[in-house]
Amino acid sequence: GLDITWAVDWVRRSADQMAENRVELIRLDREIGDGDHGENMDRGFQAVGAKLDDLPAGSTPGDVLKLVATTLISTVGGAAGPLYGTAYLKASGAVGGATSLDGAAVAGLLAAARDGIVSRGKAELGDKTMVDAWTPAVEAAAAAASAGADAAEVFAAAATAAEAGAVATEPLVARKGRASYLGERSAGHRDPGAESSALLLRAGADAAA
Ligand code: ADP
Ligand code: MG
Ligand code: MG
Repeated sequence: GLDITWAVDWVRRSADQMAENRVELIRLDREIGDGDHGENMDRGFQAVGAKLDDLPAGSTPGDVLKLVATTLISTVGGAAGPLYGTAYLKASGAVGGATSLDGAAVAGLLAAARDGIVSRGKAELGDKTMVDAWTPAVEAAAAAASAGADAAEVFAAAATAAEAGAVATEPLVARKGRASYLGERSAGHRDPGAESSALLLRAGADAAA
């Protein structure tokens, strides 16, 4: 199962992904938003990374997810800060105090994260938001878990589905968030929040592999 070492590694890999893709996420957000998504996400995850060494002994994966949530809420800002903050907070609640997560627990934490994003932002599938990466990820994770996949396999299935979901936002017209102000002109560009979501889920899968 996935333990505290995995959770800390997920955060480190997430911070690396946000730093490496900062310019690309800025570029995507410049096309259909205000160009700050890469900056926001990089700032948020560098802040989480700086707090990892202060985690008390005996911390659980749920404690790490809660640290991510509170840090992102106070450092990311914009639309994505509260949405990701809620996602990680709900994921933390879903795993509770467990010290090791099996495939079903991974599927459960991803579903809780997605549900948090939806209840906070009210976007539906196809609105060209991060929900379009999370929903196929949650579905793929649930299918893998019920087929008996282990935690690492469930996370990998989720990441692959999220990447496809992010690509699939390209032709869509945005109906939520800043990109919706562009109407039809939002089509032809990948949603930056869907892309950052896919990068974060891939980081989790790589940490589990
Ligand atoms: P802002 O638009 O405030 O500058 P960011 O650029 O950090 O915030 O984040 C933009 C991303 O937030 C979008 O690409 C989209 O994925 C996501 N987003 C915006 N509004 C919503 C919403 N209501 N529900 C889900 N995701 C949303
Ligand atoms: Mg923006
Ligand atoms: Mg902004």
